[in-house]
Amino acid sequence: DLKEKIDGLEKTAKTFPEVRFLTYKDRKRILVTGGAGFVGSHLVDRLMMQGHEVTAADNFFTGRKRNVEHWIGHENFELLNHDIVNPLYIEVDEIYHLASPASPPHYMYNPVKTIKTNTIGTINMLGLSKRVRAKMLMASTSEIYGDPEVHPQPEEYWGHVNPIGPRACYDEAKRVAETMCYAYQKQEGVDVRVARIFNTFGPRMHMNDGRVVSNFILQALQGQDMTVYGDGHQTRSFAYVSDLVDGLMKLMASNCTEPVNLGNPEEHRILDFAKIIKGVIGGNSNIVHRDPVIDDPQQRRPVITRAKNRIDWAPAVPLMNGINKTIEYFAQELRRKKHSERN
Ligand code: NAD
Ligand code: UDP
Ligand code: UDP
Repeated sequence: DLKEKIDGLEKTAKTFPEVRFLTYKDRKRILVTGGAGFVGSHLVDRLMMQGHEVTAADNFFTGRKRNVEHWIGHENFELLNHDIVNPLYIEVDEIYHLASPASPPHYMYNPVKTIKTNTIGTINMLGLSKRVRAKMLMASTSEIYGDPEVHPQPEEYWGHVNPIGPRACYDEAKRVAETMCYAYQKQEGVDVRVARIFNTFGPRMHMNDGRVVSNFILQALQGQDMTVYGDGHQTRSFAYVSDLVDGLMKLMASNCTEPVNLGNPEEHRILDFAKIIKGVIGGNSNIVHRDPVIDDPQQRRPVITRAKNRIDWAPAVPLMNGINKTIEYFAQELRRKKHSERN
């Protein structure tokens, strides 16, 4: 009859990526806040393919529906247009709390909103975890170490953050978010996990997010100047997104409630990194210097002994493989943009 016909049409209209079948007992209900963002959408992919029920909550500030489009309509998936500063009442077993702008231009765009998202938003997720007894993983950041005086950075390091500088809205809000996790753990018995994420890159990074990987690749692909801020002697250590997602899932599954650094310890000067990207892409971009950024951390590299020992994790994707996949993605995005401008 009609209903069967409509169901049939819907089925032929969309094919989903393959998902594993899980029995009711093994299937978890998982909330991913920031699930339409760069890291969140890759995490959603992995959790969906494992056969879980996934709810992504996102206010689409920097995330996009397109990042999770391939799951929309799947019976195990739900996308909520929700701002995490407002309470959320749902029933879940696990929460990956990733909602927060992540790139410096995005988090500085509306510092007050960045603070609210990471403080009130995190309180809400802890309140939800407390009520439904869900495990909660908070996406913290290497920025909690500030401009570090200890190098490389182990989890024991307390950090060196300017509390009133331009990055403070993010750094200090993430620091207090960690504090809140451990207060809820101690006082309310909430089962928390804290991931201190170091610079991560890959497909679905926002085109205009102003981070160094997207900037350099887009600039090189378009033959524009590659902009190094300051002398370029500052360092970063870059991890590929699939490695990070592995780490987040291993941390959630582990019994490690202490903070864990998740990052790739291979460290590069930003100037050298520009040369690497230019070397791969070719073209005739010039590497140029711009004013240094205020409070820019001068060195950053994770100690990952704890991740290795406690959650059996280490990054596996070589930098060049990740870079090539990311270049492919941005090249495709540029073609898509050109195409839509023509039509
Ligand atoms: P992203 O900007 O792509 O994703 C963040 C997502 O959160 C977006 O989809 C955005 O729309 C959503 N969001 C922002 N404010 C929200 C709000 N108030 N309510 C609901 N949703 C909101 O960034 P990302 O790189 O995927 O980062 C994800 C998480 O990982 C963030 O918490 C970030 O601080 C952390 N992190 C990322 C990196 C990195 O290098 N990518 C490094 C350290 C920490
Ligand atoms: N909260 C939520 N979902 C829930 C339970 C709580 O969003 O399922 C929010 C709610 O807004 C609350 C916050 O989490 O203010 C903190 O919860 P908690 O129980 O710690 O505090 P209280 O409700 O006593 O303020
Ligand atoms: N950076 C740069 N040129 C750019 C963008 C960033 O030289 O076009 C530098 C920036 O000053 C910083 C490093 O690259 O030293 C990483 O910057 P990003 O914004 O990607 O991340 P974060 O500072 O949060 O680590």
